[in-house]
Amino acid sequence: MDISIINVTIGIIVVVGFGVFSYVSKVVDIGGFIAGIFVGLTIWIFGGWNWFVIILIFHLFAAMMTKYKYKRKEQSGLAQEKGGARGYPNVLANGLIASFFSLFFGIYYITLKIYYDLLFFGFLGAISAMCADTVATELGLLSKKSPRLITNFKKVVPGTSGGVTLLGEFASFLGASIMGLAAWIFTYLGLIDCSFSFKFPVFIIALGGGILGCLVDSIIGATIQGIYKCPKCNKLTEKKIHNCGTRTDKIRGIAMIDNNVVNLIASSAGSIFSILIYILFKSVFFYI
Ligand SMILES: [Zn+2]
Repeated sequence: MDISIINVTIGIIVVVGFGVFSYVSKVVDIGGFIAGIFVGLTIWIFGGWNWFVIILIFHLFAAMMTKYKYKRKEQSGLAQEKGGARGYPNVLANGLIASFFSLFFGIYYITLKIYYDLLFFGFLGAISAMCADTVATELGLLSKKSPRLITNFKKVVPGTSGGVTLLGEFASFLGASIMGLAAWIFTYLGLIDCSFSFKFPVFIIALGGGILGCLVDSIIGATIQGIYKCPKCNKLTEKKIHNCGTRTDKIRGIAMIDNNVVNLIASSAGSIFSILIYILFKSVFFYI
C-alpha cells in the first residue's frame, strides 16, 4: 500500500487513461467507466501497481473475447447488449471481491507491517474465476454443439444459464490459465512477493480457483439463478425485461439472483478455492 501523492497521481493517470480507452472503444459504458475507476484505483493504491496490471490483463483479455466474433453472436441473439459495453453492475460484480482483497491487504500491511501473500491469492482467485467465466461464456456461445445443463446434462438452447459445452469448458481452462500464467511470471520476476521459493504453485492456485469458481457459476446458473421467458419472442432470458422491451415471466430460480449476483458468488468461490489450494500447498508441501 502506497498513499504517497506521487503513487496516487500516477495511479489516477493510468487508471483513468485505461478507463477512457475502454469507454471510447465501447468496452464499458459511462457507469462501467466510473465503477472501473473505483475498482482500479482501490487495487492500485491498496494492492499496488503490480496488482493493477494483473486485473488489467483480465480486463483487456475479457474485452477481446467479448468483441471476438461479436457479429456472429449478435446474429444468433446471444451477444452482450450495447456492442458488448459493460455497465457498472457487471464491472462491480467482476471486480468487487478483488477490490476487497486489495483493501484487506493494504490495511493488513500498514497495521501489522506484514506482507501476507494469502490475501494476494484471494485476489488472484477472484479474478481468475471471472476470467474463466467470461472466456467460457464468450467462446462457449460460438459452440456449434447444443449446451447441456451442468446439473442433469439435458440439452438446452445456447445462452441458457448453467448450460455447458466442451468448448466452453476448454475456454474456462484457458481464461484461468491466462491469469495463472500472468501471476506466475510476476512472482517469478519478483514483481509480486510470494512466500513460495519455487513459484510454480502460483499457476496451480490461480488455475484451480478459476476453474472451480467458474464451475460454481454454472451450477448456480443451472439451479437458483432467476430465469425468465419472453412471452413475445418465446425465448429464455436472464432479464426481467427482454431485449425486445417486453416484460418477461419467471420460469424458475430466485428473482434476486441475477447474473451479477451469480458473478459475485462465483468470484468469492474463486477466492476461497485459491486460498484453500494455497493452504494445501503450504501445509502438505511445506518445503516449497
Ligand atoms: Zn422478447
